[in-house]
Amino acid sequence: MKTRIEEAIAKADLVLIGIGEEFACDVQKMKRKSEYTEIISRIENKKEELNWILPFLVKDYLEKYQDECVEEAYEILHSLLQGKNYFIVTENIDGKIFKSSLDKERIVAPCGNYTYMQCEENCCHELLSAEQYAAETIASCKISAEHIDQIKPPVCPRCGERLVFNNVQAPSYEEAAYLPMWDKYMKWLQGTLNRNLCILELGVGFRYPTIIRWPFEKIGFLNQKADFFRVHHSLYQLSEELKGKGISKEENAVDFLRNTFVQ
Ligand SMILES: [Zn+2]
Repeated sequence: MKTRIEEAIAKADLVLIGIGEEFACDVQKMKRKSEYTEIISRIENKKEELNWILPFLVKDYLEKYQDECVEEAYEILHSLLQGKNYFIVTENIDGKIFKSSLDKERIVAPCGNYTYMQCEENCCHELLSAEQYAAETIASCKISAEHIDQIKPPVCPRCGERLVFNNVQAPSYEEAAYLPMWDKYMKWLQGTLNRNLCILELGVGFRYPTIIRWPFEKIGFLNQKADFFRVHHSLYQLSEELKGKGISKEENAVDFLRNTFVQ
């Protein structure tokens, strides 16, 4: 499979990459970090009432802690794609891919991340930089963990409802942040027709099948010159239509990159 992928990338005019849940940062590991333990147990004691704080802790954790295996996998991907015209679609919201060496102008993250906040009701379709709100909330948590129930959530300046992070977990997700990059991706895709295309689908399951899984299968099927590679620890099977031009691998995609393409 290593040689097949290297040959397909070398031959390709364009490389399309899908990044799925196997690359997602495991935020459950946050619970094992002592700086969060007390805050999390106080939140859990209060149940629903304080749950709004958890995403702020996740953002803080994501900024402070690395997942070395995933980072290494992104860097391997970066070296595989050197000099190539590529585009990456990611389903993850941890934003880690934007901190890698991969070209930010060639990555679209339609599920959002922790960069912006939006109104929970999305009353105004506005996006607000999350930095200040996050810094203040985290500072309040750390100063007075015992008074955590007195911390006030940030609210929408327009309607007074809570502010939430601008990602798919928002009850009424505002999609404006990623749409310019999505347009760029759609134009890029139009340019793949009748060109040598290599498709790498890495660690993508069925959580959001309309983002990567189904469209990629269709693109691979319609393009006569496509090579299709699918890697996933359990959902690695290829559809009938792709059997001729595709190879799949039953392995976690992060492990696969690290085990197969030693840097
Ligand atoms: Zn509002």
